[in-house]
Amino acid sequence: MVKRLTPPKTNNKRALFSIAHADDLILFAGGTAISLVNAGWEVAVVRATDDRWDSYELDERETIRRNKDEFDSALLNIGINQIYELGMKTDLLGDASEVELRKEFIRIIRDFKPYLTVTFDPDSYLYEDNQDHRLVGIAMAEANWAAGFDKHPNAGSKQLDPYLPIANWYFGREVAEPTHYFDVTKVFSKAVQAATHHKTMLINMARQLELKAATDQKKLDITSKVEKSPATFVNKIMQTSRAKKVKGVKYAEVFRVRDSVAIIENLAKVER
Ligand SMILES: [Zn+2]
Repeated sequence: MVKRLTPPKTNNKRALFSIAHADDLILFAGGTAISLVNAGWEVAVVRATDDRWDSYELDERETIRRNKDEFDSALLNIGINQIYELGMKTDLLGDASEVELRKEFIRIIRDFKPYLTVTFDPDSYLYEDNQDHRLVGIAMAEANWAAGFDKHPNAGSKQLDPYLPIANWYFGREVAEPTHYFDVTKVFSKAVQAATHHKTMLINMARQLELKAATDQKKLDITSKVEKSPATFVNKIMQTSRAKKVKGVKYAEVFRVRDSVAIIENLAKVER
């Protein structure tokens, strides 16, 4: 039975979301991010790639530019203005160094000092066919403990002080062993609205579906509709991934949660 998640009770209201691509934040955990912002949390986002190939009939330069602009405006729309960009080439993380990426994440954890980190579940390989998502999840899960080791190097020329987040929430296309869910029903329409900013990526998504339809000699003509009004299309996508996940909850985002709150409280009691 999965338990209901709410924003943790703490004075350090800082959350760091790590994603591979511009649209990952809203599509996988947008409702949760909005809820944290609404609860007074300071939210930062690290994007690993530059999304240079995620468009249809645009060149790389224009694709990078548009996806960056749309990413910034989507985040601004939900009250997030702290962004760390790693600028790695998109769809090539399958060949990238996990340890180098981990160093980048350690640097950002030590710099931003979050209570909570949120990223792809490294153990949810179920239905995940995107190597960028996998590497971000693996490298961030390690950074979540390695950032506290004083000899573990961070990226950049300056070795920063060790620091550790207390809570780690992992999402996925299908979380293999979910422990918690966040009820995002109330903020769902706001999340959809934010997702419509990712027009370039949504058009490409529609185009990919048209290609599949063509494989089956079917005519699907949705690209022009998505161009005109991305909301209907992205609403359907986000409903599908959130509806009927938890009994009695209209829209839920599902997580595997790890936190050290109980053990710390227990040890603090012993000390008193
Ligand atoms: Zn992605």
